Amino acid sequence: MIKESVFTTDSADEAFHIDAGDYFIGTVKAGSTFRIVDLEGNQAADTLFYNANKPAERYSATDTIREQGNVYLTAGSAIRSNENNVMLDIVADTCGRHDTLGGACATESNTVRYDLEKRCMHACRDSWMLAIAEHPEYGLSKRDISHNINFFMNVPVTQEGGLTFEDGISAPGKYVEMVAKMDLIILISNCPQLNNPCNGYNPTPVDLLVWHP
Ligand SMILES: [Zn+2]
Repeated sequence: MIKESVFTTDSADEAFHIDAGDYFIGTVKAGSTFRIVDLEGNQAADTLFYNANKPAERYSATDTIREQGNVYLTAGSAIRSNENNVMLDIVADTCGRHDTLGGACATESNTVRYDLEKRCMHACRDSWMLAIAEHPEYGLSKRDISHNINFFMNVPVTQEGGLTFEDGISAPGKYVEMVAKMDLIILISNCPQLNNPCNGYNPTPVDLLVWHP
């Protein structure tokens, strides 16, 4: 569902720029609104959420999909945790569809899907591991790196139930905006993938805007 935000860009309390292939890790308080902006279009923002006060509680695709009866995320979706609590509500979305099923790229999956020589290419899982290694203050370790949301990524389910990685339906300036329902750690890999069309074969930056409660 396409729904515009009630906030103007210049009213944000905080703004972060995530370069192509880089990561973001940070916290927001319950009641905060935050927006991810696909600056140049067809980018994938591979995102993990944790309860900041108890990081073992994290985003769960299973609980989210079951409770809303739909595999795609958009305005009106409630993003749930592995304890079936609502972590975030998506309150605005100008893209219209975000993926819960495709997972993140890793050097291992690049090797299996594409070629042995892709082994050393930069992947989302590397960015997440670098983020938690460079920021031990969040208390996250390798075991916390789990399945994720791919904001702006287009992974339609076929009639036969198959998954396909398709060219993006996002475009420059499209955004998705959420309200945190608990204190959250946000971990984003701005996908560096070059082998499939999840980011148009051309990784580009995204912006993160935060409005305090
Ligand atoms: Zn990736």
